[in-house]
Amino acid sequence: MARFIFVTGGVVSSLGKGLSSASLAYLLQSRGYKVRLRKLDPYLNIDPGTMSPFQHGEVYVTDDGAETDLDLGHYERFSGVSAKRSDNITTGMIYNDVLKKERKGKYLGKTVQVIPHITDRIKEFIKNDSSKEDFVICEIGGIVGDIESLPFVEAIRQFANDIEKKNALFIHLTLVPYLKSSDEIKTKPTQHSVKELRSIGIQPDIIICRSERPIPLEHRKKISLFCNVDIKNVIETVDVKTIYEAPISFFKEKLDLQVLNYFRLKSKRPVNLTPWKKITKIILKNKKQVNIALIGKYVELKDAYKSLDEALTHGGIKNNVKINLLRIDSEKLKVSEIKSKLRNISGILIPGGFGKRGTEGKIEAIKFARMNNIPFLGICYGMQMAIIEFARNKLKLKKATSSEFDKKGLHIIGLINEWTKDGKKIKGTDKDLGGTMRLGSYDAKLKENSKIKKIYKKNIIKERHRHRYEVNIAYKQKFEKNGMEFSGLSPDGELPEIIELRNHPWFIGVQFHPEFKSRPLAPHPLFSSFIKASKNHK
Ligand code: GLN
Repeated sequence: MARFIFVTGGVVSSLGKGLSSASLAYLLQSRGYKVRLRKLDPYLNIDPGTMSPFQHGEVYVTDDGAETDLDLGHYERFSGVSAKRSDNITTGMIYNDVLKKERKGKYLGKTVQVIPHITDRIKEFIKNDSSKEDFVICEIGGIVGDIESLPFVEAIRQFANDIEKKNALFIHLTLVPYLKSSDEIKTKPTQHSVKELRSIGIQPDIIICRSERPIPLEHRKKISLFCNVDIKNVIETVDVKTIYEAPISFFKEKLDLQVLNYFRLKSKRPVNLTPWKKITKIILKNKKQVNIALIGKYVELKDAYKSLDEALTHGGIKNNVKINLLRIDSEKLKVSEIKSKLRNISGILIPGGFGKRGTEGKIEAIKFARMNNIPFLGICYGMQMAIIEFARNKLKLKKATSSEFDKKGLHIIGLINEWTKDGKKIKGTDKDLGGTMRLGSYDAKLKENSKIKKIYKKNIIKERHRHRYEVNIAYKQKFEKNGMEFSGLSPDGELPEIIELRNHPWFIGVQFHPEFKSRPLAPHPLFSSFIKASKNHK
């Protein structure tokens, strides 16, 4: 049976529970154990798919097509294990399940309550599909003390009893602030947060203290004493310069060793930190920079393009360069400013997006990249905009547009069922907005002698999708005759998946999201190639 590690947070959010969980997963894996990571989110949305990136950051998509919390991206990047739909659950999902069951009369006339019905469903989720794992690390979103996370905290308390406490470990991540004015480190918020946790019946086994500066022994002792935790289990995590240093720093603090000690397990082999040391060194020491412009709608919030940021960094690691990312708000990008704003840019990236706002700026920037031989990568919406730009300016189809934002015009991009007569493939796009997209991993067949095939070195690739609209295959010939190849198609040849320009050093658009599959220890070939081209761009 798997052992369960529960990670809760205290004092404030955004302390890096996801990163701590992911780093711990790597360390345990490296010691020879099989680990799975899960996230329990306390909000009422069924999934984050309908939330604006400004609200919740990026929506991370799994192979099996779930729209999940961005922490699952951290999990995959650090552990290398592909997350599944069953690895992210929200309060909304739990209530949805329970209420559906209630309507069907499955509770046999009982009063349906938070305890036991909601907590039972949470416990089922935690345990589901875990029999082959040595460890399941479950991160609870939000912080202890929030009204909305209460049922989750109650459920993990019960769960630990159900499986016997020796098979469950509670880790609490809190903030240990440093006060500049008095030059002091404060342990009180941690004490209060642990008190809060204990009031619900959970005594943490390990406390991870997030701090700006190293925590002196006397303060650790104080935390140990007041929070009733062995001093060896008071672990500090001081801000790191790059997130990829986190496994190294947790190893130094013996987090993984203390976890094994708790479960009375031995390490099966020594931890291998060499890959993290190598990439940390590259990231921190690299002097040579490559200027990349990211032109999108959500640039103000860093987390909105989390996986993309990471994938670019990975491309930089592969090419020994530092990525200097210039985030440009597509809504504010005036046509007259494009030349000056993109003057020192060596690569232009248009990410995924939704809706009309900011499209004209993007289209103009794409034109600039196409005409000036600047390496260009268009992702999902970025590819769709590249298609519109080419249709308007090269094919002279002035009315070319997407039905996503213009109901009239010439729909080169549209909902697939607007032009597919074959009943089989029609998607139910006129239903609710949630859960009506082409989601998850799909195959694409790459064209012989194309640039993309040289990059992937494969005939068939698998990449993750998240979109409602597609490029109309009917225009393929017209585009190809004029220099834009449809160099990747769905296996049935009906959906354009990749486009590239024949007479351009590096101009590629992809309908999928390659960023979700890039990992620091295995940079994605498309990003490596994009950064290489940008590095070589004069
Ligand atoms: N809005 C576009 C669509 O739904 C693109 C989505 C995206 O970029 N992820 O097709």
